Parts: sequence; structure tokens; C-alpha cells
Amino acid sequence: MLVMMRRTHSPEELQALLDTIEKLGYTAHVLPGEHSLAVGITGNHSSEDREKLNQMPGVREVIPVSSPYKLAGRSFHPEDTIFQVGDATFGGNHFVVMGGPCAVETEEQTVRLAHAVKAGGAQILRGGAYKPRTSPYAFQGLGIDGLKILATARAETGLPVITEALDLPSLDAVYEYADIIQIGTRNMQNFALLKAASQLDKPVLLKRGLSATIDEWLMAAEYLLAGGNERVILCERGLRHYDPHTRNLLDLGAVLAVRKLSHLPIVIDPSHSLGHKSMVVPASRAAVAIGAHGLLVDVHDRPQEALCDGPQAISPEMFSAMVQTLRRIEAALLS
Ligand code: PEP
Ligand code: MN
Repeated sequence: MLVMMRRTHSPEELQALLDTIEKLGYTAHVLPGEHSLAVGITGNHSSEDREKLNQMPGVREVIPVSSPYKLAGRSFHPEDTIFQVGDATFGGNHFVVMGGPCAVETEEQTVRLAHAVKAGGAQILRGGAYKPRTSPYAFQGLGIDGLKILATARAETGLPVITEALDLPSLDAVYEYADIIQIGTRNMQNFALLKAASQLDKPVLLKRGLSATIDEWLMAAEYLLAGGNERVILCERGLRHYDPHTRNLLDLGAVLAVRKLSHLPIVIDPSHSLGHKSMVVPASRAAVAIGAHGLLVDVHDRPQEALCDGPQAISPEMFSAMVQTLRRIEAALLS
């Protein structure tokens, strides 16, 4: 529920309200607004408690909030969440380009591609050090050595780094090295991982689960916000489907739905969605046109040698031409 304070409320009245909320066993979120102050309340509450708060001095009205994702939804937080990572601004009217190899393979490969994507207009470098692979025999990532390589690539290019944490031990390691922590599609409902990431002071990019509904995805984001991490980026990466011609079903409509429901930035991963490099550029144009806040895209200059997901990686040349087009579309939409 949402407690709207009177414009004339005193600091003592606010404090008394916060104390009462705590005594009732709920969590209060003070939400300063342009015209008046509101207090959002999370926790399972009863109608008697709602009435009790309604009677308190300084309170104008108590509004029940039906959305199950109180913090990820717009009722407690009508304005877009906007935050900065390096030169990139997530949220609002901004469009962030994150690019790099699917996996960190060697230092030479990662630094080479980091320079290439930076020259092409990337604002963030991507690269997996811990890889969730369908087959246990496939390349699993370089682990901590991969994180060290990403740190070198960041030092050489100045690009902040996004990389995936697979479990609690890798979350600790990724936290040490990354600028943005990625939680992958297979872990969207790994609640232990979400709770641990909620305690960290680094942004988290949360991919949509393989077959997750938008409500399930926003509830997963709610875990991050409820634990205190407010810098959450949602990433649509395609849903499991039945057609063999695209790897997953890119749900662009999810961008529209999420922008309506939530204040969090939402980006698209056209590479893992579609699985073919020829589809990545047009889908990325669609992403900016439909109002996504950015892209996470696989880039490789030697895709036939890539240890992971070569067929969906675009070349650095395609990447840089694509970014120029995306910036033109963005400018046209803002004009
Ligand atoms: C990735 O981005 O490297 C990745 C494994 O993606 P997803 O979790 O979407 O499969
Ligand atoms: Mn991949």
C-alpha cells in the first residue's frame, strides 16, 4: 500500500508513521514526490492495519497497491529509474550499446575485441568468464582468469565490463571485477543468487528466463530491489519456442509492456534471441525503434574459431556500421 502524506505534515508525524509501520512488521520506503511525500509499504498487510495507518495524523490517504511487484512497478516509483555506468546512462531516453564476445577466450582475443567494439561505439564491454552451457563437455569459461582478462581489457580501453555470475561463489568473484553483474536466463529464478546480488552495490542486469512471463520476471527483479539494490537492468533475450529458424522468440512486445509496468531500464539481446548474425542488425534497429534502453550484443572477428556462440556474433565492421545507424534512428525519434 501507499500512504500519501498531507502537504502540511510535520516531521514528527512522519516519524510516528514510520515507527508504527515498523512495529506492525512491514518495511517503509519513503518516496519524496514533487508535490507531496508518500510512504510505500511492503509486506503482507491486513485491512485493519491499513485503517490504522489511515487514521494517523499527517496522513491524507492510504491507497492499496494491487501489483505484486511493489518496488519494480510504477506505483511506488512513477518516474523512470536512470543511472550511470561509466559514460553510459541507463533509462529515460538513453540507449546504451554493450558489445563484445560471448565468452572470454584469451587475453589477446578479449583485448583485441574490446578495442574493436570501443572504436565501433560500444559503451560497455561484454564477455562471459563463467559460461552456462547445455553440454558439460562444452567450454565452460575461464573463470577467475577470464575475469582478470576483462579487468585488463577495461584498463586498456576504459570500457566498463559486464559479465555473468552463475552461482554464489562466482558472484563474489564477479563482484570484485565487474562493473555490471549479469544474471543469466537460466538463473532468473535462482532466488538465493538474487538475494545475494540484492545486497551488492553494483548494478545487476537480469535476463528474462527461458519461458518466464513478464510478471515472473518483474517479481525476480523485485527480489533485487527488496534487498536494496536499486540499479537493475532488465534484458529480453528471447523465449523458448517451437520454430527452428530462430534460436529463441524475440519478444519485442515485452519492451512495451515492461516500460508501462516498470520504471526499470530494459535492453535487448538480439544475439541470444535470434542466434544468427544476419538477424542481429535489423532486430537491433527494431529494438531502438520500439523504445528499448539498449542492447547487449555478441561481437567476434573470428566467429569460426569462437569457443561459444560463433554463428550469432556480428563482425566489428557490422557492429560499428550498426551503431551509427542506431544513433541516427535514436536522433530521429528524439527530434
Ligand atoms: C550470455 O549472454 O552470454 C548468455 C549466456 O545469455 P543467456 O543467459 O541469455 O542465455
Ligand atoms: Mn552465448
